Amino acid sequence: MTLHIPFDNSYAALPDAFYTRLNPTPVRAADTLAWNDALAGELGISGQDAAVFAGNVVPDGAAPLAQLYAGHQFGNYNPQLGDGRAILLGEVVDVNGVRRDIQLKGSGPTPYSRMGDGRSWLGPVLREYVVSEAMHALGIPTTRALAAVATGEPVLREQGPLPGAVLTRVASSHLRVGTFQIFAHRGHIDELRTLTDYAIARHHPDADGPLGLLAAVCAAQAELVAAWMSVGFIHGVMNTDNCTISGETIDYGPCAFMDGYHEGRVYSSIDQQGRYAFGNQPRIAVWNMAQLATSLIQLFDDKDAAIEQATAIVHAMPEQVQAAWLRRYGAKIGLSDATAEDQPLIEDLLALMQAQGADFTNTFAALGTDTARDQFTDRDAFDTWQVRWRDRNPDMSVMAQANPQIIPRNHRIEAMIEAAVAGDMDPFQRLMTALAQPYDVAAAFDDLRRPPTDDEIVPATFCGT
Ligand code: AMP
Ligand code: MG
Repeated sequence: MTLHIPFDNSYAALPDAFYTRLNPTPVRAADTLAWNDALAGELGISGQDAAVFAGNVVPDGAAPLAQLYAGHQFGNYNPQLGDGRAILLGEVVDVNGVRRDIQLKGSGPTPYSRMGDGRSWLGPVLREYVVSEAMHALGIPTTRALAAVATGEPVLREQGPLPGAVLTRVASSHLRVGTFQIFAHRGHIDELRTLTDYAIARHHPDADGPLGLLAAVCAAQAELVAAWMSVGFIHGVMNTDNCTISGETIDYGPCAFMDGYHEGRVYSSIDQQGRYAFGNQPRIAVWNMAQLATSLIQLFDDKDAAIEQATAIVHAMPEQVQAAWLRRYGAKIGLSDATAEDQPLIEDLLALMQAQGADFTNTFAALGTDTARDQFTDRDAFDTWQVRWRDRNPDMSVMAQANPQIIPRNHRIEAMIEAAVAGDMDPFQRLMTALAQPYDVAAAFDDLRRPPTDDEIVPATFCGT
C-alpha cells in the first residue's frame, strides 16, 4: 500500500518569523525498525514507507520546517535554541478531530543546530519510543512515537561511532514555554500576540486572553507533574524549552522511572545540582509557568495590573499540584476520597520506603497482598503502618487502577538498546508488548517487573545528543 498522510498544516501558515523552511537531510539506507500501526490508524495514515520516515522523501502535502524557540536551560536563559535536530513535516487532524504534529527527530542539521550534527543515535530513539508509549499506556499526557527508522549511517558520539536513527514523533503541538520566551525577550510583540492567539485556538479555546491561557497551561502542567509523581517518573531536563503549552510530556532525553524510592533521586548525568530531582519537579513546573507568565505580561499596556493577575495565577499553582497529588496518591493507597487528613498516612509510607530503599512501583503494586512487607527490610515498621492503613478501609479496585505493575525500568531499556545495536529487536518488541497493559500485565512478563540487581543498576542516563 502506498503511503498517504492527510496533511492539514497550520503552523506553516504563520509568518516566517516562527520557523525556517527546510527539508530533512537524506540518509544512506533507511530501514524501518518500529512502526506504530494503532497510532497510524488514529492519524488517518495509510501504509508505511521507510524513505519518508527517514527524511529521504518529502511526502505530498508536507510543509517541512524547523521551529524557532528559546528557553531556560538549568535556570539560565539561552536566547536562541530551536529545532536543531528535528523537522516538523506538518499536521494532521486525527480521527477524534484533534490536530497533531508529525515531526522527524534526528533528521539532519538545521540553522538552529549550533554545534550539533542534527542527528540522533539509535539508543535515544528507541528509549523515547518505549518510554513515551509506556507513558501513554499509563494514561499520562505525552507525545507519541509513530516510527523508528535506522539511517544506515554512523553517528559520532563520546562512546565512538554509533548507529544513526530517526524517530517520528507525534504531538498535540510542539509549542513550548520557550516559543513564547523568544519573542517576548526580543520585544517582538506582534509575533507574541500571533503566537498567543494560535495557542489559545489550538489548545485552550475556552481561555480568555493571555492570562486565561496562562491559567489553562498552569492547570494542565499541574495535572501533568502530579501524574509523573504518581508513577515515579523523573523527566530529567525540565527546561522551559521542554515544557509544553498542551500539557503533554515532551523530550525523553535523560528521563527515568525510579526503582528504589528516594525523593532526591536524580538519573541525568548533566543534572549535577539535582535541580530536576524527583521531589523538585512540582517546584520546577511552577517556576516554568512563572517564565511563561513573564513572557505573556509583555502583551499588556498596563503591566502592573497584568503582573498582579499573572502572579496570582502562578501562586495558585502549588495548591493545584497538591490537590492532584493527593487525589493520585490517595488512589494509590485505595482512597478515592483522600483529604488533607490522609496526607500523613501517605507521607509515612513514603518515608518508610525512602529509609529502606523500597521499590516504588512494586511496593504500591503489592499493597494489600502478602508480599507487600517483603519490600521492606524493617517489616515491623511496615506492619505498624499497615494497621493504620487498614483502618481507613482501602478499596482494592481503586488501587488496581492507580498502581501500575510494570514500568520501563532503566536496566531493561539499556539491555534493549544493546540488543538493538547488535541487530536484535526482540527485547524491544517484548518490552512494548508488556508495557502496553501496565495495570494488568501477563505473568509471562514477571521478569520485567523485577528491580535491578546491584550489577544491573544503571546509575545515570545521558542526553540524546
Ligand atoms: P534537548 O536537550 O533535546 O531539549 O535539546 C536542546 C537543544 O539542543 C535543542 O535546540 C536541540 O535541537 C539541540 N540539540 C540537541 N541535540 C542536537 C544535535 N545532535 N544536533 C543539533 N542540535 C541538537
Ligand atoms: Mg528539547
